[in-house]
Amino acid sequence: ENLTNKIAAGEVVERPASVVKELVENSLDAGCRDILVEIEAGGRRLIRVTDDGGGMSREDALLSMERHATSKIASDDDLFALSTLGFRGEALPSIASVSRFTLASRRQGSIEGTEIYAEGGRIKEVKACGMAEGTAITVRNLFFNTPARLKFMKSAETEAGHVGDLLTRLAFSRPDVRFTYINDGKTVFRVLNGTLEERVAALLGRSIAGALYPLDASVEGVTVRGLVARPDVSRSAAGHLYTFINGRFIRDRVVQHAILQAYRNFLERGRYPIVVIFIEVPAGEVDVNVHPTKHEVRFRQQGVVHDVIQGVIEEALRPTPW
Ligand code: ADP
Ligand code: MG
Repeated sequence: ENLTNKIAAGEVVERPASVVKELVENSLDAGCRDILVEIEAGGRRLIRVTDDGGGMSREDALLSMERHATSKIASDDDLFALSTLGFRGEALPSIASVSRFTLASRRQGSIEGTEIYAEGGRIKEVKACGMAEGTAITVRNLFFNTPARLKFMKSAETEAGHVGDLLTRLAFSRPDVRFTYINDGKTVFRVLNGTLEERVAALLGRSIAGALYPLDASVEGVTVRGLVARPDVSRSAAGHLYTFINGRFIRDRVVQHAILQAYRNFLERGRYPIVVIFIEVPAGEVDVNVHPTKHEVRFRQQGVVHDVIQGVIEEALRPTPW
């Protein structure tokens, strides 16, 4: 059982950023409005994710440490209509199996919380605790019992950068949620809840705020929303591509090609796209769950998806003649 968790950890938990991803996605699934992420020493010493979501009862908290104890699949059909980000019930036991793990959670309306402490996946202590409603998960000494993994960790700076990139993407996907990221006691960013425009400006720089144009198109069940920065207005040399499919950050060949096509005239002038785009397709039209950590998808109607994206961006970039 514990070995299985350690093996699963090899797939799910590659580095500190993958731990943060799983924990923050759980927080979002729990309906939180506020997420605090703290790391120390690039996440190697400490990773803590605190949320104000629904929380867990003592029983649910204990259950969550068991393999395949997801609360997110009610029937087989749900597997094909995923509205939550998690669905395999592997993340918590996997992370716990390769760290010193503390889960503290208090369900909304409950008088106290529960704290569970585990080492290398073995539960050592369960006790009641006072805390705010929500959940706080602390992961210390990641990979302390898997030296091979530990060797693959990069410098604290590099790992902290990966966490920052990941949190930026997650923060774009949910502008309605407040995010705070603290690295070694310093606040890297704190973004309040608001519109997508506000979030993009807060994270990519106020200078592009005035250059943002909305995207909105829907063709044959494929919906595209988001923002592009007009490169003639933004004066930004660097490009930023944030692409989400059905709420998940994805780097997809077809989507990227469509964006670059739409920007081709600007690319020739050395201006790169700044695009935050949300593509929604019916669940059966896209295969996203090939692997929990893969950023890849397969569209059934590639051509339609490509043309909607290219078309809507070209439209947004059109008004100013070059
Ligand atoms: P999954 O997300 O695939 O269901 P996880 O191992 O990530 O599996 O989490 C197991 C379960 O623990 C979740 O289904 C959920 O019920 C509970 N859980 C985990 N994190 C939180 C959280 N931050 N708030 C509330 N419940 C949580
Ligand atoms: Mg999960």
